[in-house]
Amino acid sequence: MHIEKIVLKNFRNYAWAQINPAPTANLLIGQNAQGKTNLVEAVYYLCVGKSPRTPREKELIKHGEQQAYLRIDAVKKTGKVKIEAYLTRTENRRISVNGIPVKKIAELMGTVKAIFFSPDELKIVKEAPADRRRFLDIDLSQLSRSYFYNLTRYNKILSQRNKLLKSKKYLKETVDIWDEQLAECGAQVAYKRQEFVARLARFARKAQSYLTDGQENLEIEYEGFKGQNPHQIKQNFLGRLKNELDYDIERGYTNTGIHKDDIALSVNGVDIRSFGSQGQQRTAALALKLAELEIFSSLSKESPILILDDVFSELDKIRRLRLMERIKNIQTFITSAHFDEDIKATVFEVKSGQIFRK
Ligand code: ATP
Ligand code: MG
Repeated sequence: MHIEKIVLKNFRNYAWAQINPAPTANLLIGQNAQGKTNLVEAVYYLCVGKSPRTPREKELIKHGEQQAYLRIDAVKKTGKVKIEAYLTRTENRRISVNGIPVKKIAELMGTVKAIFFSPDELKIVKEAPADRRRFLDIDLSQLSRSYFYNLTRYNKILSQRNKLLKSKKYLKETVDIWDEQLAECGAQVAYKRQEFVARLARFARKAQSYLTDGQENLEIEYEGFKGQNPHQIKQNFLGRLKNELDYDIERGYTNTGIHKDDIALSVNGVDIRSFGSQGQQRTAALALKLAELEIFSSLSKESPILILDDVFSELDKIRRLRLMERIKNIQTFITSAHFDEDIKATVFEVKSGQIFRK
């Protein structure tokens, strides 16, 4: 799939901009603070309903303006699709697909699939488990509507159960009902995560080896409830909830569940979450992104949009060339402050919130 048109109105530092990107690599070049990341942020926002930079939507509206509008027109195997968003300072944002308002963000997820890679993504490798869970959640929500639904439900039930643990009112009588529902949704999520991480592991291992000339063996493993099927996972989960109920009551919150999941990452047997060098961590982050690309392409039989924000210039020449080779048939948005002769792309110059095709 690819995007054939992007329109921005009062989005970040853009008063108005429109471009027709190429279906292959697009290089957005310009000095710092000109609007390169803003442009790819808009694209990603329309794909997943969330900014990769901020949870505060009002920040996306141009300073001094009351509302913003953004739109992408994409071409998919199944036909054309138009996604639009209206943001105002006073009301909730509105998103529509082909003119039809989206009621729940789950309906938008996966319409146009995108993978975002920025230096910030190193967090996936080296920061807290929550960053790795977020990574899983964004990907799986794009790939599966039921995943997003179950995850949202899980989080609601979890907060109800935690309230109950704190208030202790009718706790013994009602906790079983919450546990049952929590384990049901949790097991669906855990099963999908387990499956996804297993796939990710296979592809990322290949990618890491490709990027390092066979020097580095990347291993990835899901750290959470495992099982042959969701039913088995549910039973494991229920057992743990029962065993740990007294501990949960003492603490006033639920200590076990998919909200504690993690992904283990090691290179040549060493845990790179804590002990990886910068280079190893950066390569692993890139390997994960390439693995995502493979999974998205194979599961949806169509390549996603790839966004590489400020990461190209950080890679060495071999990695740059290998990455370029891998993405040559995919629509990619590459932002950079420097021109790079290794990038064969349609070039756009971004300057003070204006975009010029070169
Ligand atoms: P770099 O090379 O440093 O990453 P960039 O071209 O990616 O730069 P962006 O992050 O896209 O830069 O744009 C930053 C500019 O956008 C800054 O000048 C910032 O002040 C401006 N900006 C951000 N949000 C808004 C907003 N809501 N209204 C107006 N301007 C904004
Ligand atoms: Mg930037």
